[in-house]
Amino acid sequence: MNGDSMRPRKIVIAGGGTAGWMAAAAIARTMGATVDLTLVESEQIGTIGVGESTIPPLVNYNRLLGIAEADFMRATQATFKLGILFDGWKDGGDRYFHSFGSTGKDHWSAGFQHFWLHGLSKGHTQSYDDYCLELVAALQGKFAHLPDDRMNYAYQLDSSLYARFLRQMAEKDGAKRVEGKIAQVDLDGETGDIAALVLESGTRIEGDLFLDCTGFRALLIEQTLHAGFDDWTHWLPCDSAIAVQTENVRPPVPYTRAMAHDAGWQWRIPLQHRTGNGIVFCSRYLSREKALERLFGNVEGQVLTEPNHLRFVTGSRRRQWYRNCIAIGLSGGFMEPLESTSIHLIQRAILRLIRMMPAGEISARDVAEFNDQQDQDMIQIRDFLILHYKATERRDSPFWRQCATMAIPDTLAQKIELFRETGRVFRRNEELFAENSWVQVMMGQGITPRTWHPIAGKLRDDELAGLLGTLREQVSRTVAGLPEHAAYIARYCGAD
Ligand code: FAD
Repeated sequence: MNGDSMRPRKIVIAGGGTAGWMAAAAIARTMGATVDLTLVESEQIGTIGVGESTIPPLVNYNRLLGIAEADFMRATQATFKLGILFDGWKDGGDRYFHSFGSTGKDHWSAGFQHFWLHGLSKGHTQSYDDYCLELVAALQGKFAHLPDDRMNYAYQLDSSLYARFLRQMAEKDGAKRVEGKIAQVDLDGETGDIAALVLESGTRIEGDLFLDCTGFRALLIEQTLHAGFDDWTHWLPCDSAIAVQTENVRPPVPYTRAMAHDAGWQWRIPLQHRTGNGIVFCSRYLSREKALERLFGNVEGQVLTEPNHLRFVTGSRRRQWYRNCIAIGLSGGFMEPLESTSIHLIQRAILRLIRMMPAGEISARDVAEFNDQQDQDMIQIRDFLILHYKATERRDSPFWRQCATMAIPDTLAQKIELFRETGRVFRRNEELFAENSWVQVMMGQGITPRTWHPIAGKLRDDELAGLLGTLREQVSRTVAGLPEHAAYIARYCGAD
């Protein structure tokens, strides 16, 4: 291979789930004829069949690919999502909302929470939540696109339909699809790189760069190349899930619910045509039978599908890019669906790859840079997820007692203690979850700062009252003018 020439490369994607087709659509659209792109998938094996809740960067991903939002929403039966309602995570009887918005108005030196905390000490009683547009709109079941993207949102969607939608795009843009089961992965005897995928039919598909999108099987990156896996079950102990779909019994709300139970939690995700439900649990503390019973006891409406039983190990592939193979999707690791970050990690890996696409030879520097950045993403998200389990007052079951007393990574311990002592949160290295996310979840889980930034105390009492009053008033006035979420979707997608 000539190191300084830009020439068509043969890229082979193994697997056609959400990861495989997201990668194929993005590469075909952005690289066009400069690459020769083939995707192999097996209908016999199928896809994981879950993954419905997303986070805001997906909006931009679709825009980058030139997707018209209304077309996408019709094709995937999507609803808008403004955040997640957490039930029972702090003490069993509580609820709090992690929204995609920002709360109040930050000062350059201190987030809004400092001003709000100072207000509390001065006798103001309004909830922190009342200052967040997305949060108030979500709980009132309202939504609209606002000028300048003032409403930050994501989607709740059917990821199988999303994969199908992207497949059409990718094939139109030149990606080739091969149906068949990969029976063998051939290595180059000299370099140890992957040389070809060999299908059961005997067809051999050669390539320069292979994307492993084979899901939990990790057929290329682990079963063939043995890239290694960091097991995080001591921090994220849930290892099982059961998913079912139910009919909608009310208009879909613009948020996902995460309801804690004594050995894990349960999701409820409303789409246009149905609701996705699933129970996530730790098999050490809850049997499959009991979990299924519990799930069926807490769904609304008629059950439309057979239960989909899933097992997983939380953790991360030690090298996401190893030799000429990149793990994208579940093959790269899984940190459970609590904050809807899996599809986002797929998107991050694909955009990162396109940005770094090697012009000729794959250099060790490309690989090291990619892996560093991927690791950073995984670790930051991991810490945010652990926070939900660790910061709890629940002691009502062995599961929660284990979570409350477990040792946590130093990076997270530092973040929690800094917030508890000073109300401060610092966002490092393009971290996905911004200050507002950390503040909402930490306060929601019962961590209250002991003090706040002195800049807040510089406001006179009347200035503080004016600021808090005006901001709250702006939120409630804007929300009052918003349409109902379901009616907005119907209009936007052209159903009425
Ligand atoms: P898969 O969907 O498993 O696809 C693997 C592909 O590889 C398939 O096409 C399969 O046929 C193919 N394949 C495998 N072996 C072979 C072979 N030998 N030959 C040929 N083809 C092969 N993510 C979110 O963002 N939000 C959520 O709300 C969310 N909820 C989740 C809930 C649970 C319980 C779980 C487990 C995951 C959830 N996820 C969620 C993650 C999400 O489901 C995945 O990130 C997403 O579906 C991508 O999966 P994938 O494409 O990597 O794997």
